[in-house]
Amino acid sequence: MVTVRTYIDDVDRLRKSGYRIVGRHSAVKICHWTKNVLRGGKHCYKSWYGVESHRCLQMTPSLQYCNMMCIFCWRFHTINRIAPYEGEWDYPEEIFDKLILEQRQLLSGFKGNPAVDKKLFKEALEPNNIAISLDGEPTLYPYLADLIKLAHNRGMTTFLVTNATMPERLKKLIDEDAQPTNLYISLYGPDLETHIRTCRPLIRNSWVRLNESLRLMPSFDKSRKVIRLTLVKGYNMKDVEKYAELIKIARPDYVECKAYMHVGESQKRLPREAMPSMNDIVDFSRKLSTLINYKIVSNDVASRVSLLADESSLYYLLDSDRIARRNHPTLL
Ligand code: SF4
Repeated sequence: MVTVRTYIDDVDRLRKSGYRIVGRHSAVKICHWTKNVLRGGKHCYKSWYGVESHRCLQMTPSLQYCNMMCIFCWRFHTINRIAPYEGEWDYPEEIFDKLILEQRQLLSGFKGNPAVDKKLFKEALEPNNIAISLDGEPTLYPYLADLIKLAHNRGMTTFLVTNATMPERLKKLIDEDAQPTNLYISLYGPDLETHIRTCRPLIRNSWVRLNESLRLMPSFDKSRKVIRLTLVKGYNMKDVEKYAELIKIARPDYVECKAYMHVGESQKRLPREAMPSMNDIVDFSRKLSTLINYKIVSNDVASRVSLLADESSLYYLLDSDRIARRNHPTLL
C-alpha cells in the first residue's frame, strides 16, 4: 500500500535545525559558508566556479522527498521519504520571492553584529546564486525547469545537485532551455553493488537510470558540468578504474573527489574512520586524474576535496585564473 503524503514530517525538528519551510514542499536554510563569509571568513570551495558564498541561497523544492537513503547523508531520513507527493506542487512563482524573504529573515540577526562587514551584509540580502541542493532529490520536482528559468530571468546563477536517477527530467531541462549554470551529478559507486550499498536506493533501477543520465551529460552544452564523488572509506573509495570508465561517458568539465564528512545524522550510520583524510583524497585523485587525463588544479583542505579539470574545457579556460588566485590568496 503506497502511503499518500501531503505534509512535511517533523516540521519542528526542521525549524530547530535552521530550515524555513516555504509553500507545501520547499525550504531554505542559511549555509555554513554564507555565515562564514559574513563573519569575515573564506568562501566555500565552489568559489572555484565563481560562487560568492554570502550571496548564495541554499534551497530545495523537494523537502524530505528523495529516492535514496545514502548512508553518508547528513540529513535525517523520514519513513515517508519516497511516498509519492500527491498534493498540488507549488509553481516557482509561488515560492521564489518567499524563499528570498525567508533568507533575509534568517540573515537579519547579522545586521546588528559589529563584526559583520556592512557592505557584505547588504549584498547578502540580494542573493545572486541558488544552490538547489539543500535536501531531497530536486529532479523529483515537476517544475524544476521553470524554477531554473525564473532564477536566470532574475539574473541569478543556478547550481543543481542531482543523484541523476531522473534522466527524463534532466532531458526536459535541455528541451526547455533551462540548463543550470552548474550541473552536478553525484556518483556514489563505481559499480552496481557498491552503488546500492552506499546510496541504498528506494527505487529498483537507479543504476540504469544513473548511467542514462551520464550518457546525457555531454548534451548540457550551456552548463558547467561537474561529477562529484562523495568518498566513504570502507564503502566506495575503491576501483578507481571503474569510476574512470563512468566519468569518460559523461565527459564533465570537472570532477570533484570529495571526502565524506562525519557530520549530522550520518554519525549515527557511520564511524568517524569512514571519513577519508585529505591525503587519502589526494592519493585517490592522483590515480583517477591519470586514468581520465584530467589535471588536479586545486585542493580545499577545509572541505577535503580535490578538483580535477579537463584542461580542454572552455569552462576551465574561464575559471583557471580564479582557481589560481584561490590557490594563492597572496595573488589577490
Ligand atoms: S554553493 Fe553550497 S556550500 Fe557554497 S555557499 Fe552555496 S550552499 Fe553553501
